[in-house]
Amino acid sequence: MTLIDVAIIGGGASGTTTAFHLANTNKKVCILEKNTHTSQRICGGGMSAAVQNWFPFKLLPIVDEIITNVEFSWNNTDKVVTKLPGSSPFWIVKREKLDSFLLDQALNSGCNLLTTFNVVNIKKSSNIWQITALDGRQIEAKAVVIADGSQSPWPKIFKLGPKKQKFACTFSGRIKRKGNLRSETARFEFGLVRNGFAWAFPLNNEVNIGMGTFLDNKNSIPVEEILKSFLPDLGFDPSEVIGQETKLRVWNGHSNLNGDGILLVGDAASLCDPFLAEGLRPALMSGFEAAKCLIYWLDGKVNSLDEYTKVMKNNWGNSMAWGKRISQVFYRFPKVGYQLGVKRPTAPERIAKILSGEMSYEDIAKRVIKRLLFQNSDS
Ligand SMILES: Cc1cc2nc3c(=O)[nH]c(=O)nc-3n(C[C@H](O)[C@H](O)[C@H](O)COP(=O)(O)OP(=O)(O)OC[C@H]3O[C@@H](n4cnc5c(N)ncnc54)[C@H](O)[C@@H]3O)c2cc1C
Repeated sequence: MTLIDVAIIGGGASGTTTAFHLANTNKKVCILEKNTHTSQRICGGGMSAAVQNWFPFKLLPIVDEIITNVEFSWNNTDKVVTKLPGSSPFWIVKREKLDSFLLDQALNSGCNLLTTFNVVNIKKSSNIWQITALDGRQIEAKAVVIADGSQSPWPKIFKLGPKKQKFACTFSGRIKRKGNLRSETARFEFGLVRNGFAWAFPLNNEVNIGMGTFLDNKNSIPVEEILKSFLPDLGFDPSEVIGQETKLRVWNGHSNLNGDGILLVGDAASLCDPFLAEGLRPALMSGFEAAKCLIYWLDGKVNSLDEYTKVMKNNWGNSMAWGKRISQVFYRFPKVGYQLGVKRPTAPERIAKILSGEMSYEDIAKRVIKRLLFQNSDS
């Protein structure tokens, strides 16, 4: 069996990003993916244009819609429509299109792919990782990247990631027409979903409809009831949506994201934003940073994987620590949050800046604290 440099478990957004950057520097990489890779993915597909920073090729050709306005509502009433600031564009992509585009880039750079490779065992022996699939196939690698998403069992097995995993309950589906959703507009509805929100994102000739609830590890979400209230307001009948419920692992405290020769990325690393369910940006960011550290490690700099945990803490975790606090207060008192937070004239700009990475939740929290202390209504 030939020994490769890095085996990547999972060919989603985080795995393909890691694979591209490693393959692009001539490392021997293989993505092990349990599916055949063309299946529709459960995701809203909302993504900050700031992710472009992590790629040398243009992502714009696979963007379905560029969002210029956001519309907020409370129980379909009390609506606010605001223009996003020009500096913070927000993109909507079809997830399967994004993932297969990133996969193609990785394959074109020399990465290998094994599909229907359902990883059931990962073990380390004499500094070599042995990864086994359900059908008995085996791969040996110097390092392993865990990129198999929210249901990944490996963080617990290797004692990585947060001690206590936290999950949001979500639903996402598509409708094959536009309804009356304004063009270039993303809709966020805060009153209909307990401890969470619903959304409608425009795609090319379709709309993505979804919802998430963020406070407790609940088992399900009353999807049909919420769709019945939400969809008529968008000009749809609830029977039109085809979708699926799933559990999304969200950020729940600073944690170790690496061991010796092993790294967690994306949802497997519990990186998803616990307030807005933004998981694509951290998936791509972690893929980029993981590859950077692995390149040094493979070249003999033995402590460089610890740097990965540090960078992700500084560049993502510190903001998420405040995102978690904001989520706990906002979703416990959502009506007050909507009136005092979302409906503020500056709110859309702030949200856009958070999603683009120009501002962190920490910046927002500090502004609010300052406002409360000094009663300065301009912040
Ligand atoms: C309903 C919903 C809506 C969302 N909307 C948004 C949004 O609008 N914007 C945003 O930024 N984020 C959103 N997210 C979050 C975002 O989808 C995730 O954060 C993102 O998919 C993480 O990518 P990933 O590559 O880490 O994991 P995934 O995309 O889950 O990829 C994991 C891959 O691993 C494979 N795999 C799993 N198990 C194995 C195994 N045993 N062996 C081999 N392969 C395996 C899977 O088949 C899959 O290809 C949403 C999530 C949900 C659930």
